[in-house]
Amino acid sequence: MRGKNATERVPADAGGIARAARILHEGGLVAVPTETVYGLAARADNPAAIARIYEAKGRPSFNPLIVHVAGIAAAQRLARLDEAALALAERYWPGPLTLVCPLRSDAGLAPAVTAGLPTVALRQPAHPAMAALLGAVQFPLAAPSANRSGFVSPTSAEHVLATLDGRIDLVLDGGECANGLESTIVAVRSDGRIETLRPGPIEVPGAVAVGPAEGIEAPGQTLSHYAPGKPVRLDAVVREADEYLIGFGEIAGDCSLSEAGDLLQAAARLYACLHRAALAPQPRIAVAPVPTKGLGLAINDRLHRAAAPM
Ligand code: AMP
Ligand code: MG
Repeated sequence: MRGKNATERVPADAGGIARAARILHEGGLVAVPTETVYGLAARADNPAAIARIYEAKGRPSFNPLIVHVAGIAAAQRLARLDEAALALAERYWPGPLTLVCPLRSDAGLAPAVTAGLPTVALRQPAHPAMAALLGAVQFPLAAPSANRSGFVSPTSAEHVLATLDGRIDLVLDGGECANGLESTIVAVRSDGRIETLRPGPIEVPGAVAVGPAEGIEAPGQTLSHYAPGKPVRLDAVVREADEYLIGFGEIAGDCSLSEAGDLLQAAARLYACLHRAALAPQPRIAVAPVPTKGLGLAINDRLHRAAAPM
């Protein structure tokens, strides 16, 4: 089943989900579409399965994983959700909001899931395939993005196979992801403060942004991430001769995040554009300016990490 064999790819229909549930039960790795990006799922209560995620991704073991749950009751078996956290879960779940809450001592999660932290990151996904899978298994699913560590996140089954073919058991093919950006991550502190550890599709009212320098507790917020493997120049208005230009709005490029200047569309297309740019013959990538408001904040966060030196 595992090892260097080719990865199986099946549609994310009832048969595919049943097959995925069996593989996960046995401790295997399955890439699953979510409304954000494709996740690489393994059962979160099984240390060997979790070790396989880190191995397949080449992910540093100090970078904790998000645990996906079927609902609020399942989350409460793993973490202590105070009033503020509960209110956020009720308002935004299922959906692209991850809550970092105190881990319960009887959670039964593999220690590597939280990288030894006293907190755990939890989310109830909205995508029908991931929701059906969580309904079909009896355990929570740890699922980071389904790509080799540091590379561009996958928003299609092709993107998953581009870096993980032969390293994982199965891909559930559910087409392209709707949001295209990883979930917003917020930590709910005991004094009621809500801190945004990673901007994303949901802007939580009253949450304060914490930069990577302050986010020592979240070592995964490393600067270089989502890297297409070539130098990336941001805020480019004109293309230089050796650049592949990713356009936005009036700035047309070799591809465009959104011709109409629509941030929702830009988020959905961001990783597909970066994947195309990575495969293009040009040795460098340029990206047109994207406004830094609303969803544009999360898009710029990912672009700056893509552009950071590795
Ligand atoms: P990924 O699964 O690749 O989207 O990355 C998940 C991110 O969630 C990691 O990079 C961490 O920064 C963050 N994360 C997971 N667990 C925690 C936690 N307990 N505290 C803070 N951040 C976390
Ligand atoms: Mg990732």
